Amino acid sequence: MPRERFDIEEVKRRVSCTELLRSFGHSISDKGFAKCVFHSEKTGSMRVWEDHVYCFGCHERGDVIDLAKELYGAHDTAEALRMLCGAFGICAVSDTNELAERARIARQKARERTNRIEKLKTVYYKLIAEYRRLEMNRERYAPRSPTESELHPLFRESLNRLAVIEDALQRCEWAIIDAERKYCQWLLCRVAKYLNGSTDFTETRKESR
Ligand SMILES: [Zn+2]
Repeated sequence: MPRERFDIEEVKRRVSCTELLRSFGHSISDKGFAKCVFHSEKTGSMRVWEDHVYCFGCHERGDVIDLAKELYGAHDTAEALRMLCGAFGICAVSDTNELAERARIARQKARERTNRIEKLKTVYYKLIAEYRRLEMNRERYAPRSPTESELHPLFRESLNRLAVIEDALQRCEWAIIDAERKYCQWLLCRVAKYLNGSTDFTETRKESR
């Protein structure tokens, strides 16, 4: 469990000395005097302002944190802060900031993942189109008789590339499900290059391993 941290300035802004004293049942006169928390007395000689107090009897002065230390019997500032925050419903900064940060990262990751999947789908459809073209050529330019000596170049191309495209399609399907960042980047890059005809998909796919 992370150690709780409180913003002292935030606490001072949100809890006034008057509020804190009243929460302990101390009454404050019309002129702003209360019984001192630093020494014991019958009549109030501690002047109370919103952000600090000063005692005309014992000459102690302090802010809301000093008051809290006395009233809660806290050992130190950290403990007084913790108790003040608990009593006045103020969240620890570490908690709120950490949660907000975690939520922000989660949102960003989800966005990135969606983008990856969209890109994969785009290349997937391009691959499908390429696959159909090759399949059509394979039928259209197939040798009409077993004695045909020269294979049509488009028929040869389709033989060479259909298996590669099938492999790429399969990889895209997996990647769309998994959407792991590094693999998607690599795959998108390879497929793009392959579709541009600049590189052979099969020759370079071991690079990522
Ligand atoms: Zn006093």
